[in-house]
Amino acid sequence: MDTRAWIGRFAAVIDERGAELTELDRLAGDGDYGTNLRSALGRVRANLSAENPSTPGAVFTAVSNAFLNTGGTSGPLFGMWFREFAKGLGDEVTTRSLATAATEAEGTVRRLGGAEVGHKTMVDAMVPAARALSDAAERGAPVETALKEAAAAADTGARSTEALLAKRGRASYVGEHARGVVDPGALTVAWFFAAAVS
Ligand code: ADP
Ligand code: MG
Ligand code: MG
Repeated sequence: MDTRAWIGRFAAVIDERGAELTELDRLAGDGDYGTNLRSALGRVRANLSAENPSTPGAVFTAVSNAFLNTGGTSGPLFGMWFREFAKGLGDEVTTRSLATAATEAEGTVRRLGGAEVGHKTMVDAMVPAARALSDAAERGAPVETALKEAAAAADTGARSTEALLAKRGRASYVGEHARGVVDPGALTVAWFFAAAVS
């Protein structure tokens, strides 16, 4: 698994479709989400070319640092999420290391943000993706299969946010107004896992 190519594909999707995320945040929040994310990905590219990391752990450390320096609620939460990928993946991407990383990562985001599944946040995609990776690891499935299953689970989780009433984040301030709007953070997580296998 070439994690740098994975991040490159993720950044390309954000370049292409960032405006859709901003529109979702405009409908349910303050409309800065796509801008925050694009600037994070700009720093990701800069960090990767400056550091030229050679291990998955080092790649995800560069990604994490870029997000930790980004504004909005999502910047630090994604920064801490990616930090657990850096720790969990280390020198080698295996189905087991992905499962460990994703499980630690979703736990960290839930702890820091206080959101659980069903609160209409990024957590709604992070938790099912981690569960899919853990199930794949239990079966001894190959990395490609595991990531495909994680992408499908994250996509289902992201779609599920459309019908929800938000309990965390700015979308919770507008109550019923945000029902019918997919959470942009959850959609980003789905795109991240889709980029692994695209
Ligand atoms: P802000 O509301 O500060 O402008 P962003 O636009 O950067 O934040 O990010 C919004 C996204 O952050 C939401 O789509 C949601 O997925 C996520 N989010 C907001 N609050 C929380 C929280 N408490 N826990 C987890 N994720 C959250
Ligand atoms: Mg916002
Ligand atoms: Mg904001």
